[in-house]
Amino acid sequence: MFTSIAGRAVVVTGGTRGIGKGIAAVFAGAGARVLITGRDEAAAKAAASETGAAGYVLADVARKADCQAVAAAAAERLGGLDVLCANAGIFPDARLADLTEDDIDQVLGTNLKGTILTVQACLPLLKASGHGRVILISSITGPVTGYPGWTHYGASKAGQLGFMRTAAIELARDGITVNAVLPGNIATEGLAGLGENYVNGMTAAIPMRRLGTVEEIGHAALFLATDEAGYITGQTIVVDGGQVLPESPEAVG
Ligand code: NAP
Repeated sequence: MFTSIAGRAVVVTGGTRGIGKGIAAVFAGAGARVLITGRDEAAAKAAASETGAAGYVLADVARKADCQAVAAAAAERLGGLDVLCANAGIFPDARLADLTEDDIDQVLGTNLKGTILTVQACLPLLKASGHGRVILISSITGPVTGYPGWTHYGASKAGQLGFMRTAAIELARDGITVNAVLPGNIATEGLAGLGENYVNGMTAAIPMRRLGTVEEIGHAALFLATDEAGYITGQTIVVDGGQVLPESPEAVG
């Protein structure tokens, strides 16, 4: 049995739907006090109530002032911060030949700059915790695999891991661990938006023959947040039903 994380203060960015909402539900179910963030107020209100989160903060991760407001809300409403799940992200697709400067800025601004700003804003609270945990939601796309239309997205997700490795070193003396979960294809509102053909093609490429659930990502994050995971830092956990393993489509069987 792992030591309970009941009562720990947790922030999940992008918790208004999808994986973030699943992470919030898993942590709240384990007795943690959770604040979710996002930009859509109606979705935030509904997600806070459905997941059992303590509340929500409207914030855009790409804006430094918003990230600082999230940290201030954690201090005021949770009394501090023990676990930060940096999950907010977007995955619009565009082939390299068609990518605009705006496309690149939007994806890197949210996924990569947003991760850095979020962690940076929460640092004082995580240091004060004495057992701070940072869990980044990266992806298999970029760090391990590639997919047409996602040069910018893959770069942002691989970039999160570059950030993680140095952050893990800088923060180790403060007892803060920094790790990443790399989801494969997880059934979320965002993924459904990519269309039925994409989802069917992906499901056929996964040895377990199903998409992952948001709770399966939540449980990997929960493990990294435990006291027992306190000596793991700068590492990744792939949660993908075996998707990165086949050498050819025939290997999936
Ligand atoms: P989703 O269903 O589209 O949900 C995205 C969440 O991020 C929403 O809560 C959204 O909230 C929030 N968000 C987006 N831009 C934001 C911004 N600028 N500031 C604050 N919040 C923002 O996506 P998902 O599938 O759950 O993906 C979540 C994370 O997992 C992403 O980082 C994604 O790259 C990663 N991932 C997903 C999959 C997958 O298969 N689903 C696979 C690998 C990695 P608002 O709309 O309220 O702002």
